[in-house]
Amino acid sequence: MQTRDTPGPRPGQIRDTTRSPQRRRGRPCPTVDGVWSQRSVVDYSMQRRATLHALWRGGATTTDVCDADPYLLRAAKFHGESTQRQCPVCRRTSLTELRYVYGDELGPYQGRIKSARELEAMAHEHGEFRVYVVEVCQECSWNHLISSFVLGDGMPRTPVRRRRGD
Ligand SMILES: [Zn+2]
Repeated sequence: MQTRDTPGPRPGQIRDTTRSPQRRRGRPCPTVDGVWSQRSVVDYSMQRRATLHALWRGGATTTDVCDADPYLLRAAKFHGESTQRQCPVCRRTSLTELRYVYGDELGPYQGRIKSARELEAMAHEHGEFRVYVVEVCQECSWNHLISSFVLGDGMPRTPVRRRRGD
């Protein structure tokens, strides 16, 4: 999780996303929620496929790709939203999705996990922030970044400050 596709404030990666071919062609990413104001969608399914092919070809082992750390697994268990998609590695269970939020306006609240419903509300409260969607298998620890996108009403806000005692 730390080294591979970790969602996080990697500015280079975020800037690249505006040139995403998915966005240019106007094709919506199939994995996201269709929240209003959604834009700059980046679909990581190609990277995901490449990782899985490497596994099937023997170029990678399950130890390499099923490396969700205990924090991620716990987050998936308590905050994840279940999907209808089966784990592509173990095929024993369906995948859980986590949505992490990043953006200057979020201040110290960057990197929090938010539900689809919370994102809907946040999109009205902030000008711009990016959501990273990660899928996790709680059986075999497979995890991969599947998409990211920007939400917000486009009106910049002062970054959130940490409240005293928070
Ligand atoms: Zn699995």
